[in-house]
Amino acid sequence: MSSAAALAAIKDRIATAERDAGRPAGSVTLIAVSKTFGVEEIRPVIAAGQRVFGENRVQEADAKFPILRAETPGLEVHLIGPLQSNKAREAVALFDVIHTVDRDKIAAALASEMARQDRRPRLFVQVNTGEEAQKAGIAPAEAVAFVERCRTVHGLAIEGLMCIPPVDDNPSLHFALLDELAARAGVPGRSMGMSADFETAIRHGATHVRVGSAIFGGRPSQA
Ligand SMILES: *Cc1c(COP(=O)(O)O)cnc(C)c1O
Repeated sequence: MSSAAALAAIKDRIATAERDAGRPAGSVTLIAVSKTFGVEEIRPVIAAGQRVFGENRVQEADAKFPILRAETPGLEVHLIGPLQSNKAREAVALFDVIHTVDRDKIAAALASEMARQDRRPRLFVQVNTGEEAQKAGIAPAEAVAFVERCRTVHGLAIEGLMCIPPVDDNPSLHFALLDELAARAGVPGRSMGMSADFETAIRHGATHVRVGSAIFGGRPSQA
């Protein structure tokens, strides 16, 4: 199946999942995760109408999206991978949405770059719902207070929360937890669900699903 046909199939499944969950049509944004794929592979997906993309590395995104944006106005690029504070400058310059704010140091670096560049990417806080040592994200018990600190200490508006459930767990528990934390934090966005589980995420209130391999095909190595 071509990536354009795969995209159409995913959009159909999102529409069905929205309907089944009793949610309004169009309430879920599809982020096409293009990490590891080159501009040649991304172009057909843009030609098929997709405008929202996700990348997990600042440098990789910077090598591809200035070219693609020059060809097609209106592309929206989301950072879904971990952010180091020394990359805050590039990240603020490049991305429309950053999903991986997870500590005060990053929040402070983003706030200062946003003021300096007068650019305001939309922001999500990543929550480590599985409390995995190797995974980025703030601990669930600290998430609500951290969102509040982003507002009050750093002056940042937070649009939502994001999570990546542990690979071997039932994702429903993690999606339900993220939904509950977002409600308690008073933020509307829930960035959750990938190729294998986006319909489950939509049932639990996902507003943004991040789908890569189901559109672009398998990646050479897990990136
Ligand atoms: C790679 C990645 C995705 C997409 O994963 P697929 O299983 O290919 O859909 C989603 N979210 C994050 C944070 C990723 O790194």
